[in-house]
Amino acid sequence: MLTDQQRDALLADLADALAGGITPGEEVSAAALRDWSPETAGRPLAHVRPRTTEEVSAILRICNAAGCPVVPQGGMTGLAGGATASDGAVLLSLARLSGVEKLDTDGALMVVGAGTTLDAVQTAAAEAGLFFALDLGARGSCQIGGNISTNAGGNRVLKYGMMRDLVLGLEVVLADGTVLTMMNECPKNNAGPDLKPLFIGSEGTLGVITRAVLKLHPGVARADVALLAVPSFEAALAILRLGQAQSAGAISAFEAMWPEFLRGLAPHMSRPLPLPEDAPLYILIEMQGGALASDDALAEILAAAMEDGLILDAVLATTQRDADDLWRLRDMIAELQRDIEPVVNFDVSVPVARIGEAAERIRSGLAKGFPDKEAIFFGHVGDGNLHVVAGPVTPGGSDEREIERCVYEIVRTLSGSISAEHGIGMHKLRWLPYSRTPQELALLRQLKRSMDPKGILNPGKVIEIAGAD
Ligand SMILES: Cc1cc2nc3c(=O)[nH]c(=O)nc-3n(C[C@H](O)[C@H](O)[C@H](O)COP(=O)(O)OP(=O)(O)OC[C@H]3O[C@@H](n4cnc5c(N)ncnc54)[C@H](O)[C@@H]3O)c2cc1C
Repeated sequence: MLTDQQRDALLADLADALAGGITPGEEVSAAALRDWSPETAGRPLAHVRPRTTEEVSAILRICNAAGCPVVPQGGMTGLAGGATASDGAVLLSLARLSGVEKLDTDGALMVVGAGTTLDAVQTAAAEAGLFFALDLGARGSCQIGGNISTNAGGNRVLKYGMMRDLVLGLEVVLADGTVLTMMNECPKNNAGPDLKPLFIGSEGTLGVITRAVLKLHPGVARADVALLAVPSFEAALAILRLGQAQSAGAISAFEAMWPEFLRGLAPHMSRPLPLPEDAPLYILIEMQGGALASDDALAEILAAAMEDGLILDAVLATTQRDADDLWRLRDMIAELQRDIEPVVNFDVSVPVARIGEAAERIRSGLAKGFPDKEAIFFGHVGDGNLHVVAGPVTPGGSDEREIERCVYEIVRTLSGSISAEHGIGMHKLRWLPYSRTPQELALLRQLKRSMDPKGILNPGKVIEIAGAD
């Protein structure tokens, strides 16, 4: 802990380095204290909003010298408490490092500041006739730096991979203020080991991302979308196999919603749901194509699946508006979640073929152990990613802990992971040994100690190092 005198000196140094953009702890707005998860926030020392990499570097140099913790913050849409304020920390907002610096259509890449929102990146790519493939419900607020730091997944991993697969280059500021420039623009670069992956998915614990080179894909001329009611999870997998084989991998999203999801939507709808609510499983399928793609390709795949008894009922969007409406249903998870708040949020992953089994086992485990709780199930089937939202719980209470234990024990027996895409943050720290071996954890700690010996970057999140210098 810093003395009052050290604190005052630190704040004065930060104010000198920043030319504005600093708010003292007691005046920090509630929105800057925690992300979307119900973690309790600590009381920060200050909130700083640098405009340049040099200012980020100066902040880290000053905080490192004083041994003051720093919490990097993006759009604050995280679901693991990674950006949540801790006691006495400097909250480092990247929001002002935003904007598209360069868009190269020949190289199919874009150079952006870390604070650029995902939505702005998608729009800039589309305006240039290209496509930025990451997509998730929080697109209007989340930032590219946050997406990279959490290795975000989202709706189109099936075709394009996770954020890791969309990063060509990075600029990162290390704990001591050193600027590490790795703004590679070459698709191929094997000049020794690549350091960028260290910062992708490390949730602000190893460095602060300030700029990025993003990989773009060819523009999408059409995206056909349908909502399917299917008799079983096995039928859903068979449709996915059929669709991928017949379209040469053009299926870009294959989202599952279990019946609780559709039943929960009904009270939020101003018109009837597009399909009856009593099917065992619903799938939102999207197939992307270029200008020459056939109008009927998805319809033909679905007709073949129906003939094989794999589909009970289906709605195929015939206009862009219909397609947007179907996607909106899937994006309404925020509303469903509000109905059963406070919630505990799971984004587990298991081998693709076992998602149906995982959902059934978790549903019956929760019903048996916690009959007074509601649970909603949905997921990205092609990626083996199952989301479960359960509530109401007491945030940080024993019911929350026991529900977590129940879900993570099942995931462990299915050889899965406690986090498919949201990350560990502070929320899942205690469960990390369920998904990482003691040897992996020891190496992670060693890495953290060598890159951030004073442990100033996002302490209490992801990697705990006892006895930092
Ligand atoms: C409605 C909704 C839907 C969502 N859907 C998905 C989904 O489908 N898939 C998915 O993966 N996630 C999803 N999320 C979670 C969230 O949007 C992602 O984790 C996103 O990548 C977080 O970005 P952010 O800018 O909001 O980061 P924040 O929440 O601000 O921070 C997240 C973590 O990254 C660190 N960080 C942020 N910026 C930087 C930086 N520049 N340098 C270093 N560290 C940094 C923070 O310290 C923290 O540990 C969803 C969230 C909501 C609210």
